[in-house]
Amino acid sequence: MKAPGYIGRFAPSPTGALHAGSLASALASWLDARAHGGQWLVRIEDVDTPRCVAGADQTILQQLERCGLRSDAPVLWQSQRSAAYQSALEQLLAQGLAYPCGCSRKDIEAAQGHATARHQAQTYPGTCRAGLHGKPARAWRLHLPALRQALTLPEHTDWHDRRLGPQSQDVAQAVGDFVLKRADGLWAYQLAVVVDDAAQGITHVVRGQDLTDNTARQILLQRALGLPTPAYLHTPLVLGANGEKLSKQNGAKPLDLSDPLAALSAAAEVLGLPAARGVVVQEALREWVGQWARLW
Ligand SMILES: [Zn+2]
Repeated sequence: MKAPGYIGRFAPSPTGALHAGSLASALASWLDARAHGGQWLVRIEDVDTPRCVAGADQTILQQLERCGLRSDAPVLWQSQRSAAYQSALEQLLAQGLAYPCGCSRKDIEAAQGHATARHQAQTYPGTCRAGLHGKPARAWRLHLPALRQALTLPEHTDWHDRRLGPQSQDVAQAVGDFVLKRADGLWAYQLAVVVDDAAQGITHVVRGQDLTDNTARQILLQRALGLPTPAYLHTPLVLGANGEKLSKQNGAKPLDLSDPLAALSAAAEVLGLPAARGVVVQEALREWVGQWARLW
């Protein structure tokens, strides 16, 4: 199971303290790194500043520490990485693979010929590929048709998930030319993740299943920027009482880390590992690494 050069990561958004769901993601990525004899890095994904909570990053790092999960390299904060994102965007613009977009939400709805419900993702119809026609630039988007043509890519982006098996998405149809830099001036999640995964040399991404849907977009961005594609493993989610992914909105309680072994055991069970009782945290982690190596 040893994988020379394995580098994995846990990349929480500091929108609050860790809860049972995010601890399961942290544990899964840590176990996978250890099972492969690799490194495990922590990256704080704080690009979406309006959603970030002051001090949550430090709380998360302390919670991880309490659970025996320590980054093997200095922690990276995405809020420090604007220059790298800007240079990636400039590279894409220079290659004709990105363009400014002046559309408001209303413009996009009008171009689609129907109103899209607010909670639904809008498929961008490509209005501004032909130029802004006097409108000011609001956002920057990836030019999917230009990318497909430049690299002779098929309509569907196919990839393999280590747990979910073969995956396929027609990104143009599902989301269209997606945003790289947002109208509010903030960097889009997809661009930040792709640039940082490459900068940190990430070879294996292990994260919650709710993020599966982003993978095809990230693979296309990797291709556009000439970056390698890591291996992907999307792990089971902790569900809230309403059957949806556990979040603060549906009753995720803050982790009780007066008993880190109990919190880790609950996370381990979500991942299909047995709970550990009557051992110290380090010993439980060691046992789970062995069991994880046999699973994945
Ligand atoms: Zn537009």
